[in-house]
Amino acid sequence: MTTPENTAPARCRAAHPDDPTACTGAGDAAVVADRTGTRVPGCVLHAARMLASLDGGTVHPGSVHGAATDVHRLAASTPPFAWWQDGGAQ
Ligand SMILES: [Zn+2]
Repeated sequence: MTTPENTAPARCRAAHPDDPTACTGAGDAAVVADRTGTRVPGCVLHAARMLASLDGGTVHPGSVHGAATDVHRLAASTPPFAWWQDGGAQ
């Protein structure tokens, strides 16, 4: 039997191409929207990093109950473009 987790892409859509970190949990745990209304599902880590990097971004519930709250809380302590500090200094 194939589960959705087994067929999911390696990383969620909220993961920035320059961000080398792996997803934490479901890739559609929460949904981040930018100020134009574009919505992107993501795991908690990458949704939080995206939210922290957006001007006027919002987070909405995804597939995991309570994940949007976790994203909001994590984003509050995450600098914009956090991956620049993760070894991105090249
Ligand atoms: Zn992710």
